[in-house]
Amino acid sequence: MVSWLDSGSEKRDIGINLRKGESGMDKKRIIIISTGGTIAMVKKGRTVVPFDKGNALVTDIPELHEIADVELYEFSNIPSPQMTPRLMLELAKKIDEFLEKDDYDGAVITHGTDTLEETAYFLDLILRTEKPVVLTASMRNISELSTDGPRNVLSSVLVASSDSSYGMGVVVCLNDEIHAAREVTKTYTSNVATFDSPGYGPLGVVDENNVIYFRKSLTREKIITDKIEERVAVVKAFTGDDGAILRAVHNMGYKGIVLEGFGRGNVPPEAAQAVEEIVKSGVPVVITSRCFKGRVYPIYGYAGGGADLRRKGAILSEHPLSQKARIKLMLVLGITSDIEEIRKYFEIHIGGMMSEIEH
Ligand code: ASP
Repeated sequence: MVSWLDSGSEKRDIGINLRKGESGMDKKRIIIISTGGTIAMVKKGRTVVPFDKGNALVTDIPELHEIADVELYEFSNIPSPQMTPRLMLELAKKIDEFLEKDDYDGAVITHGTDTLEETAYFLDLILRTEKPVVLTASMRNISELSTDGPRNVLSSVLVASSDSSYGMGVVVCLNDEIHAAREVTKTYTSNVATFDSPGYGPLGVVDENNVIYFRKSLTREKIITDKIEERVAVVKAFTGDDGAILRAVHNMGYKGIVLEGFGRGNVPPEAAQAVEEIVKSGVPVVITSRCFKGRVYPIYGYAGGGADLRRKGAILSEHPLSQKARIKLMLVLGITSDIEEIRKYFEIHIGGMMSEIEH
């Protein structure tokens, strides 16, 4: 069997500074819930594939047991492109089930990096618990030299065990940085320093076993629901877009559409025309931006500009990332299908300004 410990645990130094029995910390009880991803994969021939015993290795790190009492629960062993909203909902229920018990102080979820930010944001919005929940992963598989899996799990268990993490919301910890679920995104296809929070920066770091927060995310929201609407699509606007793809998606029966526009949230005039027709039929269209920093804002009044889109009934998402807006729309649609009610969840700060523009 392939093991983290193939090279011998005594000889292995993953760079942490834990002295046995002298850590000075109370041991917390952390549940590690594994879902799969590269952290549970091995090289087979020229490709990397899931390894049936891969999840078990996630707790096979001697130093882990010095900092916390950890228990492993295998939820799934899938690459994260195979994660679905339904599985996210099941995962959320499982985490709340564990953390509502006094027996557990926090949870670490292992996941593939590709869609980790979606699951993290989903959980941040929907979880009832305020106990620490940390998502982690690895960019390098188990067979690879200097795999980042063990270190990321160790740092994440430290974060989940830290009193400072209580009430911080769901966080993502890789490469010794701590990021807010709402803000974080995968930025690099291959580098271990892939997660970043553009426009925000990390919430904190793990350094020499210390969990250090610099700030707290003040824009967190909760959308508590037992029901979600899975049929929400993301459509990307492009120059010369005639709205045909939007109309096709609408005709397929999607119950909500996130339209990734340009800049402040603008699209070509023909696409805006399609948006108006779709909203008139009762299907919400949420506008995001291909820019990953800054707010979408109804400042342009020309045909297809953000203010024009809003006049045509579109909802402007203040958070620019489409994949995050889609997660949010799926949850909000679990609560209401009233477009003006949905608008309130997305247009947090632009309501006043809009009435000035409209009248
Ligand atoms: N493709 C992998 C996944 O998301 C990538 C990773 O885990 O780093 O499952």
